[in-house]
Amino acid sequence: MEWLRWPDGFVCPGCAHAGGWRLADGRYECTACASRTSPTAGTIFDRTRTPLTVWFTACWLFASQKDGISALSLKRQLEIGSYQTAWAMLHRLRSVLVRPGRDRLRGEVEVDESYFGGEEPGLAGGRAKGKKVLVGIAVERTEPKGFGRARMAPLPDASVDSLRAFLIDNVEPGARVITDGWRAYPRATDGLYDHERLSGVSGEDAAKLLPGVHKVASLAKRWLLGTHQGSVDAAHLAGYMNEFVFRFNRRRSRSRGLVFYRVLELAATHDPVRYRDLIANPRSRTTPRQPPGTRGHPPSMERATGGRPWRTTEPSSA
Ligand SMILES: [Zn+2]
Repeated sequence: MEWLRWPDGFVCPGCAHAGGWRLADGRYECTACASRTSPTAGTIFDRTRTPLTVWFTACWLFASQKDGISALSLKRQLEIGSYQTAWAMLHRLRSVLVRPGRDRLRGEVEVDESYFGGEEPGLAGGRAKGKKVLVGIAVERTEPKGFGRARMAPLPDASVDSLRAFLIDNVEPGARVITDGWRAYPRATDGLYDHERLSGVSGEDAAKLLPGVHKVASLAKRWLLGTHQGSVDAAHLAGYMNEFVFRFNRRRSRSRGLVFYRVLELAATHDPVRYRDLIANPRSRTTPRQPPGTRGHPPSMERATGGRPWRTTEPSSA
């Protein structure tokens, strides 16, 4: 932790003075202001009752396994006392993966949206409606073929404003943005991007003409159903999307150790994430304002991959 936080030696978080004494309990005392600092203070490991060795093992499983790990598997493998603790550890790790100012996608970028989630068989009272979440997907094309990096984020809807905000967050201005014929894209890309519109394309054809977003959407849906057995609630979908693209974008990395190091480095330099922030319900931002299917968007991804069921399990009830 010391090495990750202060690679060039201790720097006091209180007064920014470089230099301190290491105390017997592992803390540092600043030689200027005499305040004492733990290496975990101000990181996501701050004030956690989970031992650091358990945290590091969780980071290793999260970073090194091809599909990551579910909260249930983590609880069992590390003999963590409760499902909520394991669930919150994984969500804390997910929350560090998005670094402010990270590089946006560039070059030729396919962009589309897809509904995640779907009908919930067995749930009475009409709760099945409106559980789908619209997710924006952007994937770089590489020459002569294949794909580069991807980005995904839940969208409030498929409007010009929502798509433009997604593009600005994830795609470098000046990139060539390739989309289907949905009418919001010309204005969403106006003045910022070189827009290539595949008009009149939907269903199977869209999957062929936008193979990158189609591939990423189906891999992500398969991952949610497989590793997480669909027990992903809509309010936390953004975290799962960040985890998916983090791993997807490192799929060619030969060194699992480097990915592990990167996760630890992000965790050690990230502000603490409180449990109440994890369980805060951002549903109002991620739930479509209208039921899916009423906005007239060509449901290209939907038709290609089919609606998938998922449970909306809250951590407390699981
Ligand atoms: Zn100081």
